[in-house]
Amino acid sequence: MALSALVAMLAVPLAGHAGERLSVVATTGMIADAVREIGGEAVEVKGLMGPGIDPHSYRQTRSDIVAMTRADLVLWHGLYLEAQMEEFLQRLAKRQTVVAVAEGLDRDRLLGHEDYDDKRDPHVWMDPSLWAEVVATVRDAMIEARPDLEATFRDRAGDYLERVERLAQWADEVTSSVPAEARVLLTAHDAFAYFGRAYDFEVIGIQGISTESEAGLRRIRDLVGLLVEREIGAVFVESSVSERNIRALVEGAAARGHEVRIAGTLYSDAMGPKGTYEGTYIGMIDHNITTIVRALGGEAPADGMQGRLTESAR
Ligand code: ZN
Repeated sequence: MALSALVAMLAVPLAGHAGERLSVVATTGMIADAVREIGGEAVEVKGLMGPGIDPHSYRQTRSDIVAMTRADLVLWHGLYLEAQMEEFLQRLAKRQTVVAVAEGLDRDRLLGHEDYDDKRDPHVWMDPSLWAEVVATVRDAMIEARPDLEATFRDRAGDYLERVERLAQWADEVTSSVPAEARVLLTAHDAFAYFGRAYDFEVIGIQGISTESEAGLRRIRDLVGLLVEREIGAVFVESSVSERNIRALVEGAAARGHEVRIAGTLYSDAMGPKGTYEGTYIGMIDHNITTIVRALGGEAPADGMQGRLTESAR
């Protein structure tokens, strides 16, 4: 081999994968979406949990394990969201780069829960301003994995964070149109506490913060009483949680002569269908906010913040 060829070979950046795409595996769709936005063509991302999947009970499959061990970077949420995967991910972290992206949030900004004493509420994506900080952590983990792509990642993340910030502002605007007495959000499980804190809604989940706990008959009866007493006329189902409990509530209220309607499906712990606007983080939150605001007597365009909701919120 001629010396010049050898020198040319050695001049290839030591990173080793220059020119190759950064391969990332993310547990939730929301994290995978952030990676896609930040990385564009420079990344190859696989999200393990698709539409309708409940992260509290999801357990890694054989092919997930293969994908994770082959990836350059594995991102998970943390805060005990992936309860069934936590042990596996912690073990994996001893051998390769694994980052729990929500664990870096300032503890003062996290909410607790009465039946979850030693843990924090993991559903931080429900407040776009809080989620923006998680997106910044995703960006930093990607830069750490591929310093040669830093400029691209910073540029694209800046643009994405601006859009997330616009979503937060829009949410602020439209939620303020909901009358004070209607600001009660009753859903299948406690996923909306950060939304409630950010936009001033009282939030009630039939099941606790994790879907692992069963809602008892007594809990349903108490909530029926609350719906009747406070004349709450709208409740919401969630795409990743069974509708059974919500239906029991509606029937219970009807038996007591109080009509409650199911005012729409919210994306709580998983995004909407792949390839749709609702299948992105911004679309998911836009859908939720539009659905909630319109169902509770506020004003928001039926097709959402940017006219892109595929299925108009009822
Ligand atoms: Zn949840």
